[in-house]
Amino acid sequence: MSKNGRRTTESFFRNVERYFDKAAAFLNYDTGLLNQIKACNSVYQMRFPVVVEDKKTGKQSVQVIEAYRVQHSQHKVPCKGGIRYSIDVNQDEVMALAALMTYKCAIVDVPFGGAKGGVKIDKKQYSDETIERITRRYTTELIKKNFIGAAIDVPAPDYGTGEREMSWIVDTYLAFHPNDINAYGCVTGKPISQGGVRGRKEATGRGVYFGTREACSIAEDMRPLGLSTGIEGKRFAVQGLGNVGYYSAKFFVEAGALLVGVAEIDCAIINPKGLDLEHVMQWKQEHGGLLQYPYGKVIKNPQAVLEVDCDILIPAALENQITEENAPRIKAKIIAEGANGPCTPAAEEILLKKNVMIIPDMYLNAGGVTVSYFEWLKNLSHVRFGRMEKRFTENTNLLFVREIERLTGQHIGSNERKLLLEGADEEDLVNSGLEDTMITAYHAIRDTMKRNKKIKDLRTAAFVLAIDKVASSYTTLGIWP
Ligand code: NAD
Repeated sequence: MSKNGRRTTESFFRNVERYFDKAAAFLNYDTGLLNQIKACNSVYQMRFPVVVEDKKTGKQSVQVIEAYRVQHSQHKVPCKGGIRYSIDVNQDEVMALAALMTYKCAIVDVPFGGAKGGVKIDKKQYSDETIERITRRYTTELIKKNFIGAAIDVPAPDYGTGEREMSWIVDTYLAFHPNDINAYGCVTGKPISQGGVRGRKEATGRGVYFGTREACSIAEDMRPLGLSTGIEGKRFAVQGLGNVGYYSAKFFVEAGALLVGVAEIDCAIINPKGLDLEHVMQWKQEHGGLLQYPYGKVIKNPQAVLEVDCDILIPAALENQITEENAPRIKAKIIAEGANGPCTPAAEEILLKKNVMIIPDMYLNAGGVTVSYFEWLKNLSHVRFGRMEKRFTENTNLLFVREIERLTGQHIGSNERKLLLEGADEEDLVNSGLEDTMITAYHAIRDTMKRNKKIKDLRTAAFVLAIDKVASSYTTLGIWP
């Protein structure tokens, strides 16, 4: 087991290949083509020296940092995928995450190939200045080998990184490419002031919510689980309160679900009567952890949250969390995979036999890359979404409202009038684009499953859909017979 509770012996990339092979058996493609889709096209493993500063002592030394960037597929360019900062980063993990990105982009019709980056560091040990130096040096290494650029490969945040790291990346890239008019499109997940798009920070969690809500809206699928439709009133638990976990939980709570368990790296907290998410977050911030949290049962083993009695479990930390060891004790009826690869194939078999619905990572957490796509489009078009049409829409709506008032002789109240007049701004457009994407993709996966009675689970259906889409981009180009 690693520090984060992951099974370190399990090859994550091999697990992704297993899922791929299971799905490929339902398709009729040439083995060579399937092998090409499965393979990681480019693996860049790097080592670079950085002057690091110990956070506690302030002592400086030179450390050699291990890092990776993997481009899984260039069937569409640019490649796209987040950058992870974790002491557990290794080549196998980055390859697996890059492969998942290819399939994820295909499922949500985002025209990118899959990629992923990783830097093997424990952020807690370093000062902010050191993390900045590492980020800028990593970016320089990517630039040197032509592994970054709006038309080549576009990183984004992942575990351990966020807006801050993305803004260092774009700043470093700009220093080396001052004449590149599309330089801001070299990375997504940037702060708004650095070319980011409104809604990106919340996008993955919002997508987890939209996807789960869609699954829960179908009575025919909820009945075998013994659940009613809708999110309201459902009990849910979250592992990991980072970007994905926190925002997923926030949208579930806003929709009326009851948060009965959370886990962070130090412990799990369970309360069947419900936890106050914002209070938990505030406590974590103020106390540097949750071990002393007073309003729930604190269990020192964070993995305990996975076994909480709930309707929906959202693993939103890391891969290989639900294994054949703990799968028999999982009580949730739906597993909504916020993290990448939280269930091993062996665990999945056990869960499917228990009639658990697993909404797979490569679909459910695709909200991040979907909105990253919007951000990239914004950077290439050099204009904020909604800027051209917002006022025009409002003026047109005003004409309609006046005409309705004239014809009916009724005056529309000021609140209703405001709602009717308002044109969409950037955040409205991003969120509605995300909602539409998640709903459409869910039905595409479900329809794939319904069309082929032998496909029994959503992950296999999602892989079938993804492989089909990637394969068709080779065959329609005439690259493959
Ligand atoms: P993050 O760094 O913002 O948060 C992860 C949180 O999980 C941290 O607070 C960490 O302390 C906690 N954690 C780690 N191990 C834990 C354990 N064993 N038990 C409980 N908590 C634990 O990372 P993130 O961006 O939210 O990413 C989480 C997962 O979601 C990863 O698998 C990532 O690949 C995936 N993902 C992220 C995005 C994104 O946009 N950030 C998009 C798609 C998928």
